[in-house]
Amino acid sequence: LSTRASEVLSRLSISSTTELSGVYDGQWRGSGVVQESVCPATGEVLARVRTASPSEVQETLAKTREAYVQFRNVPAPRRGEILRQIREALAAKREDLGALVSLEMGKIRTEGVGEVQEFVDICDYGVGLSRMMNGRLVASERPGHSILEVPNPLGVVGVLSAFNFPVAVYGWNFALSLAAGNATIWKPSPTTPLCAIAVTKIISQVLEANGVPGAVASLVCGGKEAGQAVVESPGVELVSFTGSERVGRIVGQNVASRFGKVILELGGNNASIIMPDADLSLAVPAVYFGAVGTAGQRCTSTRRLYLHRDVADEFLSRLKTLYRSVAVGDPLAKDTLLGPLHTGSACEIYGQAVEKLRTVDADIITGGERYQRDDLKAGNFVQPTIALPKSVNPKDDIWSTEVFAPILNVAIFDELEQAIEWNNAVPQGLSSSLWTRDIRNVGKWIGPAGSDAGIVNVNVGTSGAEIGAAFGGNKSTGWGRESGGDAWKQYVRWSAATLNFSDAAPLAQGVSFTP
Ligand code: NAD
Repeated sequence: LSTRASEVLSRLSISSTTELSGVYDGQWRGSGVVQESVCPATGEVLARVRTASPSEVQETLAKTREAYVQFRNVPAPRRGEILRQIREALAAKREDLGALVSLEMGKIRTEGVGEVQEFVDICDYGVGLSRMMNGRLVASERPGHSILEVPNPLGVVGVLSAFNFPVAVYGWNFALSLAAGNATIWKPSPTTPLCAIAVTKIISQVLEANGVPGAVASLVCGGKEAGQAVVESPGVELVSFTGSERVGRIVGQNVASRFGKVILELGGNNASIIMPDADLSLAVPAVYFGAVGTAGQRCTSTRRLYLHRDVADEFLSRLKTLYRSVAVGDPLAKDTLLGPLHTGSACEIYGQAVEKLRTVDADIITGGERYQRDDLKAGNFVQPTIALPKSVNPKDDIWSTEVFAPILNVAIFDELEQAIEWNNAVPQGLSSSLWTRDIRNVGKWIGPAGSDAGIVNVNVGTSGAEIGAAFGGNKSTGWGRESGGDAWKQYVRWSAATLNFSDAAPLAQGVSFTP
């Protein structure tokens, strides 16, 4: 293992030489299949992880429930204090954890560190929430009666996460779930187990120091089977799933069939629309970041670009210049802007998508190949690509499916209404962005006939959300909301409690039932 990688791992107490335990429920163990964590930039094996066997998943589920039964009685502000300590522990490891995200997932350093910062931010938010998760007092129509809407802890929350945000997505769920008084069981992506182990180590130390059962933050590393076991368990009240539309469809149906609660955060197919009055000095770099950042592997990555005819040539010429000079390579190097794709199979999917564009005679304005440079050959590096397909049939695969790679499809429009129609014509509805300085366009865009996505930005790119607003998408993105806004309300069990403190027992609506 390279010295740099082993230094990062050792500062996070992760051994690269012995097989790591991938299960935690107060104790670390793991006797399932061994998974390798492979660095996408170099191909080196970072470490080996013993995943959860089927019986270990069941044991961990049981331990997590026991932990919930104990933890639900801890007062919410005290839970907030524990979360504050977790926040401090994470912040102290921000640089190393961020570097691990780069090593294992492949995103560049500033984005890896940013992801840890997002976890820190949502912990702050959860600390505040722990004193503000209030119910309501509702006016009763009956004299001497009051109705309370009471939030109580919900139970066990299963978090199934995707490879591309191996730290932050868990953070969004964990912070709210802990503040709400639940225990979580995390099944991370099979290709990013080290991030999950490192995060769980940090959290478990805080829990144990506070005398809280470790299984309040359980971990089961594993693949599809481990995920299925969590999804199908009747003891998991809420399943929060982040991943592809294909798997989300299965997970959603499974949870619904046992009447569980589910949050789905699925694929995006996000568009930016550039009006003739847009400030191109802001819009061009924003589209560049949206489409090329994280090598196009964000759920919010810009995949479609709709340019007004009046600015199309100018915009494309400036964007092409940025694309052609992108600094590609080692994600941990200071100047790198483009890291690798996460896996070799992602490179194949990229290749197939480019091939498909060629078969329909799309103009590949730039990119379209794997990099041939010697220092990039061991990694999964592909050129960021801009394509101008001949047709704009939104039902065509080119426009309607999410390809998780840096490919940006461009079309030219004359009227905003046309661009909004294209924006809305795809199955997904995660993020969208309009660039204009005309308030009338803004009104259309955010109004009833505007963008149908969950994120509707103006002069802000499609990716890079803050934790304060509820995050999520509509339509085949799954309608889930996480993080800020009212998202916490999904992590509690609501009850309506009517209290009678009078000397009579009248029925509602004046119903009379006198024996
Ligand atoms: P994926 O669907 O392949 O895997 C996601 C998780 O599901 C993994 O932990 C996997 O092991 C597990 N899994 C697989 N089959 C399962 C099954 N049958 N039952 C239960 N669990 C199962 O997704 P991925 O390739 O890791 O991630 C990329 C996708 O995630 C993209 O589509 C991206 O848009 C999406 N994503 C969405 C958001 C969002 O907030 N909307 C955020 C990040 C990523």
